[in-house]
Amino acid sequence: MTTTTTEKPVENHAFEADVARLLHMMVHSVYSDRDVFLRELISNAADACEKLRYEAIANPALMASDPASRITIVLDEEGGRLVIEDNGIGMSRDEMIEALGTIARSGTRAFMERIEAAKAGEGTQLIGQFGVGFYSCFMVADRVDVVSRRAGSKDAWLWSSDGKGSYDIRPVDLAEAPARGTRISLYLMEDARSYASRWTVERIVKEQSGHVPVPILIAGTAD
Ligand code: ADP
Ligand code: MG
Repeated sequence: MTTTTTEKPVENHAFEADVARLLHMMVHSVYSDRDVFLRELISNAADACEKLRYEAIANPALMASDPASRITIVLDEEGGRLVIEDNGIGMSRDEMIEALGTIARSGTRAFMERIEAAKAGEGTQLIGQFGVGFYSCFMVADRVDVVSRRAGSKDAWLWSSDGKGSYDIRPVDLAEAPARGTRISLYLMEDARSYASRWTVERIVKEQSGHVPVPILIAGTAD
């Protein structure tokens, strides 16, 4: 389906069936250790910085304007929003559709197979064991916006979903996107708003992301 909002074409894509099932589980999860979502997003951000460093060996121009990798977490306590931004490799439109709409990665596939085999009620324990990656943010957020600009690219894209079966994707102005890399905005569920508090975020980063080889900055609300 294609609609038009403010002159920008919006495409709506259904999630792959396995993703839809995984998301349904995340949203209805009674899993107690929801903190893991932040570790997953930080680890993806660090991976993206690592991938950029690797591509920049052959193409130094990719990093020249901003040579230091970093991950920035922005807390918007008032607005119930948590933002994780990196200046890593970023994603093109096609990469977003592949990475955030399918279960291409083997870890998540293995998780789904275990879930199939698991007895009722056992599934949620498996979340922590497997580290189910990006989709875990739907344990704490009822909407997730991902704005990304691939390093060296002249366009930027917004992926947006409530985790209920489909996602929208549309181009965004470069002014609305990071100069390169990815900005993930989590609109926190009512009972997950503490994830926008400095105390909580600092605690989780210290507990779970101490080994991350990229500096993590924690900032208050800018707007
Ligand atoms: P994994 O990290 O094991 O591959 P995830 O579910 O955590 O699985 O992430 C899926 C994919 O989404 C990643 O492999 C990557 O291609 C893409 N991705 C997620 N977050 C980012 C990011 N911050 N920057 C670039 N790509 C990302
Ligand atoms: Mg990951």
